[in-house]
Amino acid sequence: MLIVQKFGGSSVADPEKVRRVAGIIADTYCEGHDVVVVLSAQGKTTDHLIEMARQINERPSKREMDMLLSTGEQMSIALMAMAIERMGLPVVSLCAWQVGLETNCAHCNAQILRVDVDRLQAELDKRRIVLVAGFQGLARTGDITTLGRGGSDTTAVAIAAALHADRCQIFTDVEGVYTADPRDVPDARKLAEITYDEMLELASLGAKVLHNRSVLMAKRYGVNLEVLSSYVRKPGTKVKEVVKTMEEMKISGIAKDLNVARIAVIGLPDEPGMAFRVFRALANARINVDIILQSVGRDGTNDISFTVPRSDLEAAREAIEAYRDVLGFDHVNVDDKVAKVSIVGAGMMTASGIAAMMFEALSDAKINIQMISTSEIKVSVLIDEAYADRAVQAIHEAFFR
Ligand code: ASP
Ligand code: MG
Repeated sequence: MLIVQKFGGSSVADPEKVRRVAGIIADTYCEGHDVVVVLSAQGKTTDHLIEMARQINERPSKREMDMLLSTGEQMSIALMAMAIERMGLPVVSLCAWQVGLETNCAHCNAQILRVDVDRLQAELDKRRIVLVAGFQGLARTGDITTLGRGGSDTTAVAIAAALHADRCQIFTDVEGVYTADPRDVPDARKLAEITYDEMLELASLGAKVLHNRSVLMAKRYGVNLEVLSSYVRKPGTKVKEVVKTMEEMKISGIAKDLNVARIAVIGLPDEPGMAFRVFRALANARINVDIILQSVGRDGTNDISFTVPRSDLEAAREAIEAYRDVLGFDHVNVDDKVAKVSIVGAGMMTASGIAAMMFEALSDAKINIQMISTSEIKVSVLIDEAYADRAVQAIHEAFFR
């Protein structure tokens, strides 16, 4: 089999952990498999590099940020190669430009365009363990790029797809994907399997297990993904197209997202084109809007509320205020003490009453719902941030008792 393994920064944070991971890689190789390993920068290296940049220049160019940030991953693969060499096994470490991992030119958030497998395949043919630096890419201009924070997962999936690997294993510091964050809900259960779509929703909703672009890519190319622990050797969670338990499970997981803020534009004239103007202003400011709520008009005016990432709150407020004359609203009110709690499950497509169960759990816990949004496999509510943990626990209790 050809197996792609990816180890996150915390799994290779210090020499002892590097040696432990080297052991996992060596075992896989010695079972007779071809092994390609993608690594992240050690521990908090990327954060430290960002901090170092800040001390020199508050607004460095993205090109130079990529030049700097890409070094963390290069350190990891070299050190890991040395650990494996010491075990007497054949190994080679390669940076993105050596494996022909081509991206577009969007520095600091580049998209992978192509992986040239020739070098990888040549090394595998020599029966070497191949270590690849995650997170990096090479633009057609010849410049180094990076894929955005957490991007090493995406490197691993791209390489697995390009090589038609039999498996892509993402090793991390949790044992898999859980029905809720075990830190919030102690009796959260590990899922044996989850669909790409569910994982995508959970990843976007703040469950920080996988980079969501990696899940998108895995779905597109049908990569067999597995999330598992670097510390305990047991099966993790498989991410695939269809899962067996789908019909029985009402939902697969609950996610909590604190990175949200709510904005309400109060007293907009109730006439055509208002929503368009509000959201065009936000789009022009490159702000991602999530939940949107428009009330029924009263006295010729209307209110529109929506949520944005908390870090975009001020920019969003400014974008709206800048159009005060055109929009003719009364005032804007904002709240950044809110949380989005969501349930996700492919089972929702066929079962009824799932949303009602969630709302009942919140009602019993005396938690007020401010906004609601739904998709085929998701129901999200916006609530007071102070009740986020209680909400997750109450909903978990209702669905997984
Ligand atoms: N080292 C990068 C980061 O910290 C990429 C990754 O860990 O996947 O975001
Ligand atoms: Mg990560």
